[in-house]
Amino acid sequence: MNLDLLNKSCKNGRFITTKSYKKEIDLNLRVSEPESSTEYWRLPRPGELGELGPGQDFVHSGIVYHSNKDIKKPLVDFVANGSGEQRALLLDRDGILIKDTDYPGKVEDVFFLDDILPVLEMFQSAGYVIAVLTNQSGIGRGKYSESDYAETTDYIEEYYRSKGIEIKKTYYCPFHPEAKIDQYRKISGYRKPNPGMALLAAQDLSLDLSKSIMLGDKQSDRLNIGYLSAYIIGTRDPASDFKTFAEFKQFIQPKLEL
Ligand SMILES: [Mg+2]
Repeated sequence: MNLDLLNKSCKNGRFITTKSYKKEIDLNLRVSEPESSTEYWRLPRPGELGELGPGQDFVHSGIVYHSNKDIKKPLVDFVANGSGEQRALLLDRDGILIKDTDYPGKVEDVFFLDDILPVLEMFQSAGYVIAVLTNQSGIGRGKYSESDYAETTDYIEEYYRSKGIEIKKTYYCPFHPEAKIDQYRKISGYRKPNPGMALLAAQDLSLDLSKSIMLGDKQSDRLNIGYLSAYIIGTRDPASDFKTFAEFKQFIQPKLEL
């Protein structure tokens, strides 16, 4: 990992204790600065939520945050423990792998977007690990169940496997602050654009997120991880980077080490 890059992405490592922090503790380490309305990420300070000193790890909700060893430079960032050298193509699901039919949560709602296949083939041949990060507030909203979701995921992964594409793992976030079902109603650091799912993937799959790419169809797919490249594809978002997968492929192909 390139620490300079990490530090830059952490807005020069500014970190601060706020009273609201404890309210937002569920891995939601994004902090708003009321006067300037800028947002940034930080690690807990020593003494906050237990002791955290220079070079120490802070574990929360299964994610390991690691502070810079040199506390004199107030430069900290989060790195999933065990993150390695592997490059990944991280994909949003709805609008990227399947059509976004407004909460597709059951097998019968699934329509595959085959235009992405050449992109997946290209990244796979270049040695990228492919994983999916999907917000699934439809579960919290009671539109479909965890087991519907699991069945749909198997179906999607199996389809792409039949096309020669291996999706290593699909991560999902069922939580939403306004979920109908109590157990899913909360601010979650896993919900994109929060970084939780990507950090978890980095930990599980030994990824170097600074060399990885996230693809999505909405601005919320630009995760709050400054060192992870993200591209928005499609026509749904007027500010998308590319209108089609073919355009994206043409752009990215020369940049991949094939
Ligand atoms: Mg989407």
